[in-house]
Amino acid sequence: MSFGKRLARLLVICFLPSVLAAQTAGYKPEWCKELPRPEYKTLQRVLPEEPWFEIYKFSQGVFAIYEPHQSEEVISYLIVGTKQGLLFDTGMGIGNIKSVVSRLTSRPVVVLNSHTHNDHVGDNWRFQFIYGMDTAFTRANAKGSREDAQAEITPDQICGELPVGFNSKTYATKPWRISLFVHDGFKVNLGGRTLEIISVPGHTPDAIALIDRQNGLLFTGDTYYPAPIWLYRPETDLDAYVASVKRLAALAPQIKLVLGAHNIPVASPDVLPRLVDAIQAVRSGKGEVKAEGAGKAMHTLDGFKFLLAEPKKGID
Ligand SMILES: [Zn+2]
Repeated sequence: MSFGKRLARLLVICFLPSVLAAQTAGYKPEWCKELPRPEYKTLQRVLPEEPWFEIYKFSQGVFAIYEPHQSEEVISYLIVGTKQGLLFDTGMGIGNIKSVVSRLTSRPVVVLNSHTHNDHVGDNWRFQFIYGMDTAFTRANAKGSREDAQAEITPDQICGELPVGFNSKTYATKPWRISLFVHDGFKVNLGGRTLEIISVPGHTPDAIALIDRQNGLLFTGDTYYPAPIWLYRPETDLDAYVASVKRLAALAPQIKLVLGAHNIPVASPDVLPRLVDAIQAVRSGKGEVKAEGAGKAMHTLDGFKFLLAEPKKGID
């Protein structure tokens, strides 16, 4: 563990009691005050009694499964055809997404992850059939981990109530088994609807987008969503990211709707070519830059925000 990580952990341990006390006194984290996001007002909500997830129906067989009570505000998608369904990400693993899925469809469901960061694979372990990209990063993450998961449930990360029966002490990303390795161009026939994998490495080596060409839907994972895009972790490759967003931008004329994996599930396809311009301009030093603690900086340009690693100064 690096010195920085040790220090961060020590700070969490030192300040946790005071944050916990603050929470009992009606403490609300800053991000929580922005909720509910106005964009959701126009969407069709289903299963409104679900306590942890908010579920929205887009069209016949397309559902966004949103987790607004945790700061990642992660969004998983269930896409159902006449034969089977595909669950694109399984969320935090805080609520039981499998029980939600079984309320939305009685057909068999296969899991595919937009990438294998902990906030997208939390409930993989509950499913029998899981597609995985054939990368070392994917295989390493499939072993599970505790540290990233635990960092997601500190009081400043939670808005409202954790689900009844949730055990914060044992919370971890549980390991899962990959049933079949898949690749760029791999097609999944759901019956009356086909999804195709587009490999978009960059955010992580195993990042993918999913395209439903017939219905003009592009599911972009963490490669694009309408909120600050995190590109600071060591597994992020910015050159690869730029090449990948160029590939997605080329698809924009065929797309009606872009569905990302955090905060808000809808964006217009014209955002994709603008994203290419914005990330390239930011990399060439344009835009506004604000330090964001521990070696990160937020770069803002043309309505986009990118959280990037700051270049290392001197010897670490
Ligand atoms: Zn991610």
